[in-house]
Amino acid sequence: MADYDYDVLIIGSGPGGYVAAIRAAQLGLKTACAESRETLGGTCLNVGCIPSKALLHGSELYDEAANGTLAKFGVIAEKVSLDLARMQAEKDTAVKELTGGIEYLFKKNKVDWLKGRAAFQDAHTVRVGDAAVTAKNVVIATGSSVTPLPGVEVDNAAGRIVDSTGALALAEVPEHLVVIGGGVIGLELGSVWRRLGAKVTVVEFLGQLLPGMDGEVRKEAGKVFAKQGMELRLSTKVTGATATGAGVTLTLEPAAGGASETLEASHVLVSIGRRPNTDGLGLEAIGLAPNKRGQIETDPQFRTAVDGVWAIGDVIPGPMLAHKAEDEGIAVAENIAGQTGIVNHAVIPSVVYTMPEIAGVGLTEEQAKEAGKPIKVGKFPMAGNSRAKTNRDTTGFVKVIADAETDRVLGVWIIASVAGTMIAEAALAMEFGATSEDIAYTSHAHPTHPEALKEAAMAVQGKPIHI
Ligand code: FAD
Ligand code: NAD
Repeated sequence: MADYDYDVLIIGSGPGGYVAAIRAAQLGLKTACAESRETLGGTCLNVGCIPSKALLHGSELYDEAANGTLAKFGVIAEKVSLDLARMQAEKDTAVKELTGGIEYLFKKNKVDWLKGRAAFQDAHTVRVGDAAVTAKNVVIATGSSVTPLPGVEVDNAAGRIVDSTGALALAEVPEHLVVIGGGVIGLELGSVWRRLGAKVTVVEFLGQLLPGMDGEVRKEAGKVFAKQGMELRLSTKVTGATATGAGVTLTLEPAAGGASETLEASHVLVSIGRRPNTDGLGLEAIGLAPNKRGQIETDPQFRTAVDGVWAIGDVIPGPMLAHKAEDEGIAVAENIAGQTGIVNHAVIPSVVYTMPEIAGVGLTEEQAKEAGKPIKVGKFPMAGNSRAKTNRDTTGFVKVIADAETDRVLGVWIIASVAGTMIAEAALAMEFGATSEDIAYTSHAHPTHPEALKEAAMAVQGKPIHI
């Protein structure tokens, strides 16, 4: 590839970009990855998946010790106290180790890390900081950032009105955290601060939490979080928020319109979604325009409309999930190398890492019905699962949605303490085109939570054992 500096230049080192870079290098392509952040790993490793899971784990341990779960099993932890600085430090260590791990993998695989902000000059020339770099193929993996809410100005440094990045770094437990948006980030980070002692109010525009998930799961999630003590203000919108020295005054209105009211908070988290990063990328220089939602459209092989330019991850349509970005990273590298890289977008699991966890893969019951498919649904409560009963974590259920004619599994939805782990089996089964009978007749180790998936699959035929 004498004419170019690189066979492949990837812009962005998140789960999409770094995985694409490693795979491309593994396939013998001369590869570089440009990143404007100081460390590798993108949103996920620096300010997303990893730090949020560290705080979810730490706060769960605290909650178990402080609020009785340990005591129920005879583990008496007296005078439990919170050292928030230490919890934050442990989170920072996890982030440092994981971002450092990508640096190690880049070195091991001979991927060049180009430090600086990248912008196209033409389809094969990208300015990274002060240098111009040429590449036969350029992959846009620039990810996404927080969607701003008009009238509510985020100031992470001041620490009163924050986005997810600010909410991951609070130095004090909020007295009253108002979360704007009852989606994944709002519920995960709301759970962290509730467990650590904050009063948490979630203001959600829609009538239910967690848009995109199965209707029954959304309803149950509402009950679960309310029972845990979160105040849920559904069908309500925030029209403004003003930070005062000591707190924040919000104005709220019914989503359908009506009289406004004020709400006082010590802190506010804005978590109303994320939008693709394309600003300053020089897309106009290559004649590539984002769609109405700001996303870069691609074909199923991740080619954009411009020859030699590819795109993956949060910046293209589809769920904004790290594993989706990773899968696309592998596929795009394989396609660039002349292989056949495919991502089955119909089978991408999603997980909300609250307690209990909430997970799903495939179609919701509503989507299956809308598609006009005759369906059979099997449900099994975690209260009927022996391991959940033993562990005293019986909240939730497993729901299997199957095609009524072929019995092929169309979707699986789970609320359970370990739903995120359980959903992997459902995804694998669906990837192999399994029927509910296939799952029902697969031996599952006893006593384990996944037995509830087997029983829900048996319930599709109307014959579970333990209810
Ligand atoms: P990103 O990870 O956003 O990475 C893009 C990178 O490109 C960034 O580092 C950015 O600095 C860089 N960049 C952008 N523009 C340029 C430029 N012009 N030049 C150079 N570099 C550039 N997903 C999950 O699956 N599980 C989770 O548990 C989870 N938790 C999350 C928690 C939070 C709080 C947040 C905010 C997100 C979470 N996500 C989670 C979503 C997940 O982080 C994203 O889906 C994922 O990071 C997308 O990967 P990506 O590679 O497309 O982009
Ligand atoms: P989201 O789309 O999950 O939720 C945003 C919520 O805000 C929605 O329920 C929406 O109805 C509500 N909303 C929008 N405007 C509003 C307004 N003005 N007032 C009140 N409510 C309003 O977005 P998010 O929670 O910000 O997460 C962003 C992305 O990050 C998601 O796409 C998600 O996939 C990803 N993420 C994933 C994980 C995970 O996989 N565990 C964790 C965190 C983030």
